[in-house]
Amino acid sequence: MQTPASFEYERATSVEGAIASLQKLGSEARIIAGGHSLLPMMKLRLANPEYLIDINDLAELSYIREGGATTSGSPSQIRIGALTRHVDLLKSELLAERFPLFRDAETVIADPVVRNRGTIGGSLCQADAAEDLSAVCSAAQAEVVIRGPDGERVVGMEDFHIGPYMTAVGAGDLLTEIRLPLRPGAGSAHEKVERRAGDWAIAAASAALWIDGGTIADVGIALSAVGLTTIHLSRAEDLLRGQTPSEELFAQAGEIASTDCSPGADGRGPIDYKRHLAGVLTTRALRRAATRALNQEA
Ligand SMILES: Cc1cc2nc3c(=O)[nH]c(=O)nc-3n(C[C@H](O)[C@H](O)[C@H](O)COP(=O)(O)OP(=O)(O)OC[C@H]3O[C@@H](n4cnc5c(N)ncnc54)[C@H](O)[C@@H]3O)c2cc1C
Repeated sequence: MQTPASFEYERATSVEGAIASLQKLGSEARIIAGGHSLLPMMKLRLANPEYLIDINDLAELSYIREGGATTSGSPSQIRIGALTRHVDLLKSELLAERFPLFRDAETVIADPVVRNRGTIGGSLCQADAAEDLSAVCSAAQAEVVIRGPDGERVVGMEDFHIGPYMTAVGAGDLLTEIRLPLRPGAGSAHEKVERRAGDWAIAAASAALWIDGGTIADVGIALSAVGLTTIHLSRAEDLLRGQTPSEELFAQAGEIASTDCSPGADGRGPIDYKRHLAGVLTTRALRRAATRALNQEA
């Protein structure tokens, strides 16, 4: 049986208390949320924190609600607390209506045991390139709120991932909220291929489109599991912006996805297969996102 190295454990009773503990205990302290990524790493001794700060009692970090303007200028947004569990994302009618790519993704993330405990904050902070929610939040053009000893800052997803398993969340910081800007004409979708139900992706693609008067006003596209980090497809986004949605355009975006990803060969498949999947899944996600956006527009 694998067991973690010994560690000290404390349960945070407030956000401020968790941040103060991180500050006091230094770089050997780690936050634990659902534990579904951190505990397996500790059992394998890939992570050996001396202190765990458990945030599971912080009910104030568990919510999905609408309200407030974003820093990027959208008049309204959906706010998701960092401790919100996968199961709550899956069941949310608000998300299913405004950002259906969340339900697409949550339907195929792991199994009920993982979904009952794992959190959106843990998923994003883990920053595993195969994490579905990182691609979902990148495509949805989310902003995240990070609180540290010097206060709060808001970071766009384009600046969130700074390397494999590395994010803008520093050693003394807590991710507290994910914000999704609400704009008219939105449609979104997440497409994934896995080896068997509940497995990590061989490849996955998330897409969000904002259609105004039949034209793509804005777009976000991101890939999981086909590079060292979540891949943001800015070249494909540039191609689509200002164009009329069409099958040919989405096929071109798929070709860019196949070129701009950088998968490695492993037990999930060879490089050319993963590149092929990245292209096909990007085209499919865009097609479904556009259908959803146009149905809303009508
Ligand atoms: C069998 C299995 C299958 C899985 N399959 C998939 C899958 O198909 N797709 C997928 O996307 N995921 C999958 N996962 C991962 C799952 O989504 C995890 O729940 C998620 O990766 C981590 O969330 P957590 O709350 O458990 O984080 P934890 O394990 O508690 O923490 C992960 C990391 O984030 C840090 N952290 C957590 N919360 C915060 C915060 N608020 N602020 C700062 N740092 C924080 C921790 O210190 C740690 O470094 C799978 C997991 C398992 C065990």
